[in-house]
Amino acid sequence: MEQYWQKEIETASREQLTAWQNERLVNTVKRVYENVPYYRAQMEKAGITPDDIKSIDDLHKLPFTYKSDLRDTYPFGLFAVPMEQVATMHASSGTTGKQIVAGYTENDLAIWGDICARQLAAVGCEKTDIVHVSYGYGLFTGGLGLHRGARRIGAVALPVSSGNTARQLTIFQDFGSNILCCTPSYAMYLGESLEEAGIPLDKIKLKAGIFGAEPWTEEMRRMIEKKLGLKAYDIYGLTEIMGPGVAYECSCQKGMHVNEDHFIIEVIDPDTGEVLPKGSEGEIVFSCITKEAFPLLRYRTRDIGVVNYETCECGRTFCRMSKPRGRSDDMLIIRGVNVFPSQIETVLMREGHSPNYQLVVDRINNLDTLEVKVEVTADVFSDTVANLTKAEKKLADSIKSLLGVAVKVTFCAPNTIARSTGKAVRVIDNRKLH
Ligand code: ADP
Ligand code: ZN
Repeated sequence: MEQYWQKEIETASREQLTAWQNERLVNTVKRVYENVPYYRAQMEKAGITPDDIKSIDDLHKLPFTYKSDLRDTYPFGLFAVPMEQVATMHASSGTTGKQIVAGYTENDLAIWGDICARQLAAVGCEKTDIVHVSYGYGLFTGGLGLHRGARRIGAVALPVSSGNTARQLTIFQDFGSNILCCTPSYAMYLGESLEEAGIPLDKIKLKAGIFGAEPWTEEMRRMIEKKLGLKAYDIYGLTEIMGPGVAYECSCQKGMHVNEDHFIIEVIDPDTGEVLPKGSEGEIVFSCITKEAFPLLRYRTRDIGVVNYETCECGRTFCRMSKPRGRSDDMLIIRGVNVFPSQIETVLMREGHSPNYQLVVDRINNLDTLEVKVEVTADVFSDTVANLTKAEKKLADSIKSLLGVAVKVTFCAPNTIARSTGKAVRVIDNRKLH
């Protein structure tokens, strides 16, 4: 039986959702125009005033907000409330450059707690459950975000944070953690560590995992589920918009429900900026319509995905976004072929390899090269050189035939690729160093 945190909102009719969105968008646009000089200037440049925005049909008239706008106004230039109303701040982990700072009022925090509680309810979290949060605590949004969600739903919020893997395993066993929240790469590492420590699954009580903050594949999901003995759910979010919980997966696991009462999602052509017809793949753009401290409008996430508006079997009416394949700036262009690391991951796992891999990109004699380093088991690694070379070639051929890009595959000994307790570092691009 599907559980909801706020059923009347999560299953509201499309008419009701649209009515909320219209009203909230109009108010937010007015508010930023009045309180954020930068936004006012951008709107003036685009030749519009708040009077031009009467409903969500006018959304496309608003200028986009880019990451560069956040850098230009660093640190607090886009805050829409005076500092005395700001309750806390978070900052992006800076995966792709200078950190950005997000402010939250008390009300923003309450909403964030709600949307994370919606995720927790969807995975079957009860008040008696121990929610083991292994996302990093601190300026990163992962830890405190899910923590607030767990408190909101009335469950036990266990602030383990990331790292100290041996202690995580002890806590699983001694405290009986029920729901694990961390990045998928750390979940994988925890699963491997359980196996290595020889701890059988009946010694732990995990039933569900909430894994996000980085791209991961269905194949990786199945492997994590097996290793940790739980059902693994995807959660999406970004610091600029709120943090984890912008979109959440239900038990149907066919995309993540976007919290449309707080955020409007659009899919655009990343080159022209044009809004694409429903069902097309493109860059995801979000507008915040209830946030007080840091309400970004038409923020270009650079995440590539698709949105599905069909009704979901779980009963929720919020549209669903696909697992983003990765950010457009994570996309590698290798001799003209576009490749996302997650596509390589899919091939590796389909061919029975481990998800412990790293991609090394370089440019040699003006030609891009891509090396796929992948860990193999001790057995495979100690095979004859001739057999190893043959197996590497076989994998390189599969990648070539599926993705259309020639790569060099190098098998590595077990545990030689660094594990991450947060977001995994999948790509080393040496081209940027030249
Ligand atoms: P940083 O930008 O420093 O990495 P964030 O933690 O705010 O900091 O990162 C947000 C980004 O993480 C998103 O824009 C998206 O690219 C990625 N992300 C978050 N959740 C998911 C998910 N479930 N699947 C794929 N990518 C995700
Ligand atoms: Zn659903």
